[in-house]
Order: sequence, then C-alpha cells, then structure tokens
Amino acid sequence: MTKDEIIRKKQEYLFNCVTTYFKDPLVIDHAKGQYVWDLDGKRFLDFLGGIVTISVGHSNEKVAAKIKEQIDRVQHTSTLFPTEALVALAEKVAQIAPGKLKKSYFSNSGTEANEVAITTARMYTGNYEVLALRHGYSGHSQLTKALTGLYTWRKAGVIPYGIVHAPGPYCYRCPYGLTYPSCELHCAKDIEEVIKTSTSGQVAGLIAETIQGLGGFIVPPPGYFKIVANIVRNYGGLFIADEVQAAWGRTGKKWWGIEHWEVEPDIITSAKGMANGVPIGLTLTRPEIADAYKGLTISTFGGNPVTCAAAKATIDLIEEERLMDNAEDAGNHFHQGLEALKEKHSLIGDVRGMGLMQGIELVKNRQTKEPATEATNLIMERARANGLLVGKGGLYGNVIRMSPPLNINKADVDQALAVLDKSLGEATATNS
Ligand code: PMP
Repeated sequence: MTKDEIIRKKQEYLFNCVTTYFKDPLVIDHAKGQYVWDLDGKRFLDFLGGIVTISVGHSNEKVAAKIKEQIDRVQHTSTLFPTEALVALAEKVAQIAPGKLKKSYFSNSGTEANEVAITTARMYTGNYEVLALRHGYSGHSQLTKALTGLYTWRKAGVIPYGIVHAPGPYCYRCPYGLTYPSCELHCAKDIEEVIKTSTSGQVAGLIAETIQGLGGFIVPPPGYFKIVANIVRNYGGLFIADEVQAAWGRTGKKWWGIEHWEVEPDIITSAKGMANGVPIGLTLTRPEIADAYKGLTISTFGGNPVTCAAAKATIDLIEEERLMDNAEDAGNHFHQGLEALKEKHSLIGDVRGMGLMQGIELVKNRQTKEPATEATNLIMERARANGLLVGKGGLYGNVIRMSPPLNINKADVDQALAVLDKSLGEATATNS
C-alpha cells in the first residue's frame, strides 16, 4: 500500500479517537535498533521508542529468537494452563522485585495492570476510596480514566469510582506557589488534609507514577514518596507505584524508578518496556496482598507464553548488558546536553528527567511560564523533518518527552541534541 492509501484506510476503518502525531501522519514501514524508517525509506533516530516501550532496540534479535522458539513450542494456552514460560518470567520478576514484592498478575496492558491493582487494594484493605494525583495518567478504561488527572484523556463519560485527586509534585508549576526545598514538601504532607477532607478517612490506596509520564515527565522532589506512602498507610491504604513507564532500568542504575526514593511500594504496576513492544501488563505485590484477591478471574491472553518469553528475554538482556548503567550514563550525558540547550534557547523553561526518560518543558516567557504549545508542535515537526522522533506530553501539550532504547550510545544522544538544537532554532525563527 502507498502512504496515502494507509492514511485513507485508517480514517475510514479505525476509530478517530485513536490519535496520531503530526499534521501529516508518519507511516512507519520497518525498524531496527534505534532507528525506524518510513515508507519512502527515510530513516529516523527514534527517541520516543513507541512511547517508552522499546527497551532493547527495535526488532532485537535475541528477543525475536526467544519469541520464535516459544511460538514453535506452544503459542497460546490461556491462564487455565500454566507453562514454563509463565513461571520462568514470574520467578525472574520476583528475583528483581524490591523487598517483599513477589507475586505477579500478568495481563495485556498498563490499563489492566492498574485495574487489577485497584481491585486488589480494595479487596485487601476492605476500603473503597482511592487517591490519585493531578497530572497523572492511568489508562483508557473507565476506572483508569477516572484515576487520570488530565482532562484531555478523561473524555467520554468518566463515572465516579470513589476516586479523589490530590495536587501533584509539579515543582516547575507548584500548585501551592512554593519552591523546593523551602516548601518542606508541602504537597506530600497535604495528602493527609485531602484524605481528611475528601474521603471517609479510610482509603484503599494511593496510585502515583514514579515519574508522571503523559503529565510531562514530572519528577517528584526527593523525600516526596516516603511521606506520601506513610500517610496513605496511616489511613489504611496501600501505596501503589505505577511504573508503566519508569521500570526496567529506564531511570538508570536500578530496575525500578521507585528504588531511587528508598520506599518499598505495596504494589507495583508495569507494562510498556517490559517485553520490548509485545503487549503485557504486570501487577506485582506481596503474597498476602495478592492472596486477598478472592474469587475467580481469567485473562485469556494474560501470561501468554510468547509474551512471557519476550518479557523474560528483554529483562535478561537488560541484566546481561547492564543497560541500567548505560541508561544512567547516557541519560546524564543527555540531561547535561539539554541543560546546555536551555542556556541557548529561551523557549526551554525546564529540563527534567532521570536516566533515559528526559523532558523539556517549553514556555513563551520564562517569567510568566506561559506554555508554548504551538512551538512544541512545530519543534516536533521540525525534528521529524531533521530525522528525529520525539514525543509530547503535559497538560498544556508543551513538554517534549524523550525515551530512547536503553542501549543507545552517546553518539546517538549527541545526534539527537544536534537535531533538537537545530529544530528549536527553526521553531524560534518561524515564531519571531
Ligand atoms: N500508566 C501509565 C503511567 C502510562 O503511561 C500508561 C500508558 N501510556 C498506562 C498506565 C496505560 O498503559 P496501556 O496504554 O498499556 O494501557
């Protein structure tokens, strides 16, 4: 098919709500390592990685070999019949899980992982009300839309599910107008006030992303999670860390983003980078919490042997090649380069991120912090024209999000920085 045919058929046969980037959608033909190619044969350096999902490079040969091996053995069984691939993955996850977290529930997406987490927390605690954070994203089902704290992703009749949103740890635009560290983490302490004023005082839990992804790579300040986890536990709830984006070494040095903050969550959810692009969801918790989930459940595709083989191969590769260390080194190099771009381009208001999860928030004016939404779109278009793919996020659509594969090298980072520099310059020239 030609590019035009594909775009026309997409409009004709798919739901329009399934949004795409760019005025002229990019039709990807094939991909390898850190690159993707469009139908015309143009190559792009992929610094989005299928939305924080390509952990070990596109079409990784070692992962592909394990997938093929498993397909030849058995492709599908359903959760009614355990397989070696299923338990091998669960055992591996338990080995790298923080602290006492041990038991896994596998599903097909981050949305499902969060659904399972909330249901489990409600069953374990006997409480119903759940806290979520403003600017958070939890998924596209009814429950997870209700947990989401971004109006753009909450459309279509979100019904109340006993969910209360607390202001988030968005230091660049502090909801309380304070500054870290003199704020003394007021946003974390205020969760207690939210519980006391907006719930019955008995909660099932609080769900928070370790780094808010769609919210614009918002990194909470040090000490935040410790305070939040303590408060929620004092009111009978569990602390659920959504690591759909931040797990699997992406934040550098550690397997899990939350490990940087010396807090052991009660439940971790993940998906995305876990199987390098093969659909998977994970809800991971302590045995006593997992076993409080009563009643029968089934997930036809959850724990599918091919998916499990892909996930195990991805995790093994991250471990063998010490890609968390590379995420730390290449990520620091990237962060420094972005800070240097901030010196040069007044459009950049904030640079933030950990490891290979880095974002820049774009503003029209550094004093007023007015979001530069159109310029963000323009920079993405220019970056595409210059051969680089980046993502977007933030309540105002003014944060460029970057999350390349964990095995990129510093030369790739330098290349991305050069293209960003050029594209920022072009966008500024167009706007002035
Ligand atoms: N949680 C977070 C933090 C996410 O970023 C996403 C996906 N963007 C989800 C949950 C939902 O995952 P999925 O799209 O796999 O359902």
